[in-house]
Amino acid sequence: MKITKVESKLFKYTSYVESDDEGHGHPAKEPHQVKQSLITIETDEGHKGHAFGANPQIVENVIAPILLDENPFYREKLWEKMMHMQRIVTAIDERILSSIDLALWDLIGVIMNQPLNNILGLYREKVPAYASTMCGDTIKGGLSTPEDYGKFAEWCVKEKGYRAVKLHGWMPPIEGAPDPKKDIMACAAVREAVGEDIPLMLDSYHYYSRLESLWIGRELEKLNFHWFEEPMDESSMSSYIWLSEQLDIPIIGPETMTGKISTRAEWIKNNAVDILRGGTGDLGGLTPLMKVAHLAESYNMAMEVHGGKEGNLHALGSIRIPGEFYERGLLHPHVDYEKPPEYLHEIIDPMDDEGFIHMPKGVGLGLKINHDYINDNLISEDIDIKNARRQS
Ligand code: MG
Repeated sequence: MKITKVESKLFKYTSYVESDDEGHGHPAKEPHQVKQSLITIETDEGHKGHAFGANPQIVENVIAPILLDENPFYREKLWEKMMHMQRIVTAIDERILSSIDLALWDLIGVIMNQPLNNILGLYREKVPAYASTMCGDTIKGGLSTPEDYGKFAEWCVKEKGYRAVKLHGWMPPIEGAPDPKKDIMACAAVREAVGEDIPLMLDSYHYYSRLESLWIGRELEKLNFHWFEEPMDESSMSSYIWLSEQLDIPIIGPETMTGKISTRAEWIKNNAVDILRGGTGDLGGLTPLMKVAHLAESYNMAMEVHGGKEGNLHALGSIRIPGEFYERGLLHPHVDYEKPPEYLHEIIDPMDDEGFIHMPKGVGLGLKINHDYINDNLISEDIDIKNARRQS
């Protein structure tokens, strides 16, 4: 069997979220059109694997020559070849690498007629979700005050059934941000709203100083928070060693630091964190995510998967170590997370009323793609609309 076709189609769809100048998503003032791309990898026996999100020019000019005529079952070797190509073609970032890797995994699932979680090896059929809330904003009735966060967290837990909640504090360019005191006021409001038993986490502004981070961490300990995420620039592993040594609350990371598996290994070796972190989009796919999960397991370290969506969800079905949660979001009082984008018939991660996400049972990634919608909404590269905002 060999790969005979690799293509990426660009299309538009309606988004209800827009990014601020620093890339944080907020509810859009008006629904607007954004770009997305569908990757297709096809074999000489007619099997097709799909995934979303890689630039068509890179797929056509760089990825296709690597994959064409290769046996799709050589996924490890193909991932290595693409990863080595990142050194030369820096435009292949981890998210693009991830999209191609996921399309290859989807193809394997289609060929074997099995969902990926079966192929990876199941450890569990369902994972508890946490409500991952958007960054703070200035929207009335949105997430503009500590009380707003409290109210929204209470709705997530009591009305929707989420078993845990994560806050992202206020970040620039929001006026007055960053502010450690305001972050803690929101955390206190959420703790009061949901009670003592719900695990809570903070993913704060990512460029606080050591002393600001230490102060926030000590306040989170008083509020019985579950973990403290990325308060400082991850380029300085020494700062994380310094912080972890002084705090009892688990520090989780690295998330955005480059270096894939090797970086995670160094952070474990240097006791820079208590819980390891990584997702398909940070690491370059499901292939490296499973390696990182097994690395954490070998050090008896918990590993929390960063971000939701199909690749991360399948991985969570087979991670044995106490990677507790599926990150569901990003959520906001004004955004309907349950509504699928036009290019999907269903969202991949519906939640049951006890707050669990079940392993998808469709073949491959289990995406229910609306190919008719995509084919009716194809666009060319030069159209002037923004790229779809990706999960972060
Ligand atoms: Mg984060």
